[in-house]
Amino acid sequence: MVTDSAEKLLAEVQAIVGEEFASAEVEERILASYDATRRASLPEVVAFPRSAEEISAVLKLANRGKTPVYPRGAASGLTGGAVPVAGGIVLDLRRMSRILEIDEDNQVATVEPGVTVSDFQTEVQRLGLFYPPDPASADFSTLGGNVAECAGGLRAVKYGVTRDYVTGLEVVLPQGDIIHVGARTLKCVTGYDLTRLFVGSEGTLGIFTKIHLRLIPLPPARRTLLALFDSPEAAATAAPRLLKAGILPAALEFIDDATIECIRKQQPLDIPAAARGALIIELDGDEASCVAGIAVIERACSENGALETRRADTPADRARLWPSARPPRPRFSRPSRTSSTRTSASCRRGPRKCSAARAKSAAGMASSSPTTATSARATCMSTSCSRTAKRRMPKPKPPRPKS
Ligand SMILES: Cc1cc2nc3c(=O)[nH]c(=O)nc-3n(C[C@H](O)[C@H](O)[C@H](O)COP(=O)(O)OP(=O)(O)OC[C@H]3O[C@@H](n4cnc5c(N)ncnc54)[C@H](O)[C@@H]3O)c2cc1C
Repeated sequence: MVTDSAEKLLAEVQAIVGEEFASAEVEERILASYDATRRASLPEVVAFPRSAEEISAVLKLANRGKTPVYPRGAASGLTGGAVPVAGGIVLDLRRMSRILEIDEDNQVATVEPGVTVSDFQTEVQRLGLFYPPDPASADFSTLGGNVAECAGGLRAVKYGVTRDYVTGLEVVLPQGDIIHVGARTLKCVTGYDLTRLFVGSEGTLGIFTKIHLRLIPLPPARRTLLALFDSPEAAATAAPRLLKAGILPAALEFIDDATIECIRKQQPLDIPAAARGALIIELDGDEASCVAGIAVIERACSENGALETRRADTPADRARLWPSARPPRPRFSRPSRTSSTRTSASCRRGPRKCSAARAKSAAGMASSSPTTATSARATCMSTSCSRTAKRRMPKPKPPRPKS
């Protein structure tokens, strides 16, 4: 049921973002009610802003009415930060999905927060550049969400995490002020490092509307190895020992027995029955060092109990191997309403299109969404209500939004 106050709030938000881009329909509210923690709570209004100025105006409005505001990317977060536990307004940022600039000479880029990680990686790779942070959710999670969570991922050991690539941000503060921290260049070393303060702040300090990212040259060669072990413990024990072999892998992924069972059922990898644990090891660099390095890693795997090792040398071999370590797009994450392109035109589709169908599919999300979080963080971005509440997570169950 939409109350008079919710109707008033909707009208005020619509006056800022446009009628088509704010909704209080129950389907749209359900879609904005949860994240990968499976906690769920209905917001009053969902808005799809297009600019920092619109977000600023919504936050000023929210401050006047002490209304909580929740920024939201792809809702794949495992900390509960995007769940509107106190109702209010959800700002779905996936309409802000333009790659604004890729500066090849200076190896930096500027993006809007709704660009997905894999779309960005693909674009920079076309230019011989590399954005290393690579969470397993890269195909659907947004760069805004990655910055807010300081996402790590498969390449963290060699290349670091999201924090190591953010050089500057445009941020809308809870009161609605738009500020810039850091810079679009690497050389910005004086003064307080406010950029680092914002990275990992889970939406509690402000909403990122532009993100400046550092890039590095794309390594010319890549080699991947699958090592099979007779138990998850054997694989886990071998992993740190491989690092001592003197080769730093670009990615090192542990696969447990339950995951191997799923792979056996779903993928043509032909894994022997004795294998109950595995490691995927990827090296990158120049061709010669990759070839030599993979031989060293193969030897180290055998010396540390591997039943078998398999090389994946061609892109096709690698593509067959990596999906086993990458989840498919979860059902809790509906496709974004725009695909990110370099300076793409703005989306003209409103939130109402097909929202009933999307909500229906979202309602069935529970069976496929992973849950590992142990606490949920509720953030209220209204100045007069800037609390952060931590709560214990119940056992995972399908989301039942509160109205
Ligand atoms: C299958 C799966 C695999 C995953 N693998 C990894 C992994 O390998 N490594 C890893 O680190 N994480 C991983 N995650 C967790 C998750 O994908 C990351 O935390 C990701 O960064 C969240 O991005 P999102 O766009 O989904 O953000 P959301 O879940 O929508 O939001 C996450 C938080 O960021 C805030 N937020 C979103 N956008 C903005 C913005 N523009 N400004 C300010 N705050 C904002 C939200 O309020 C919320 O607090 C995985 C999750 C899943 C479901």
